Amino acid sequence: MNTEILPIDKDSLSRSARIIKSGGAVAFPTETVYGLGANAFDDGAVKKIFEIKGRPNDNPLIVHVHKNYDLSSLVSFIPDYAKALAEKFLPGPLTMVYRSENKVSPAVSCGLNTLAVRIPSHEGAQRFLEYVNLPIAAPSANVSKHVSPVTAQHVFDDLNGKIELILDGGKCSGGIESTVLDCTGDTPIVLRSGLITREMIASVAGKCGQYVMKEGDRVPSPGMKYKHYSPKCRTALFDFGDSDKAFKYYKECLAEGLKAYIMCDSGVAGRYHIENLLDLGENEEQIARNLYDKLREGENLADIIIAVAPQKQDGIMAGVMNRLKKACG
Ligand code: AMP
Ligand code: MG
Repeated sequence: MNTEILPIDKDSLSRSARIIKSGGAVAFPTETVYGLGANAFDDGAVKKIFEIKGRPNDNPLIVHVHKNYDLSSLVSFIPDYAKALAEKFLPGPLTMVYRSENKVSPAVSCGLNTLAVRIPSHEGAQRFLEYVNLPIAAPSANVSKHVSPVTAQHVFDDLNGKIELILDGGKCSGGIESTVLDCTGDTPIVLRSGLITREMIASVAGKCGQYVMKEGDRVPSPGMKYKHYSPKCRTALFDFGDSDKAFKYYKECLAEGLKAYIMCDSGVAGRYHIENLLDLGENEEQIARNLYDKLREGENLADIIIAVAPQKQDGIMAGVMNRLKKACG
């Protein structure tokens, strides 16, 4: 199969609608990462997504809809706090998990009685979702366990020959996957951290819990138990306070003849003389936006990526740390 990257216009949208309606998959941009989408009502199409990615079949998918889609047809109960959160943060990088009306293919939620729904703010995503006017089940458009894609080229690098069409909406502005929020109980619970932080959610909902995985737990969001986001090369992760040690290790690796690269924020980078640098940027937004791009750049250049964690660990950085530990820990 020939994989094409096309800008989002009338022609590519009408072609993507044809592919989706005939049971195929299309990659499309969102403000977080690129998604690989299929018609959520079509059992065969949803199963194809798992096949294309090599995704474990107990890791459920998020359904994406446009901003005027009638959610009440898909989910059975939307608590008041969820309505308030939707009002404040949607469209945007927040996925909300509700009790399902079981109208979409059971393969979407892998047999769970809940459904994760997201309304992306990316203009190209909205145009695609409006054009097809169907709920689109979509995980990130990478090969399972690899680093998520934040450009059309990243999707191509992983899925060339496996899908027909990649809609190109430029580099994703957010850079890490959406916050996943359980909205099935009395209080919202963050299942996966992202750009909409627990603090932001609590400021609207009054309270917000954080799920922490414990040994022997029945995991409420199965995706969390998998190794994720891994670059193809070796990695090492140092705490912010251990950046001297990271630099020393980098020098040792170079002396051994390894192509070693340091991945850190601009502040840390400025304190050392680093020839092989993957600079994550100056502030939190930049660090989140650049993380996957730099991991993918690094894996093509380096034998080993030596990452230094950001100093802050809360807010947006909670989401960044979660990905960084899975990629490099
Ligand atoms: P990805 O497609 O890679 O962004 O992963 C989707 C994430 O959403 C995974 O961590 C899933 O476990 C989570 N997820 C999807 N559907 C549900 C659901 N019904 N309940 C809880 N988590 C979900
Ligand atoms: Mg993913």
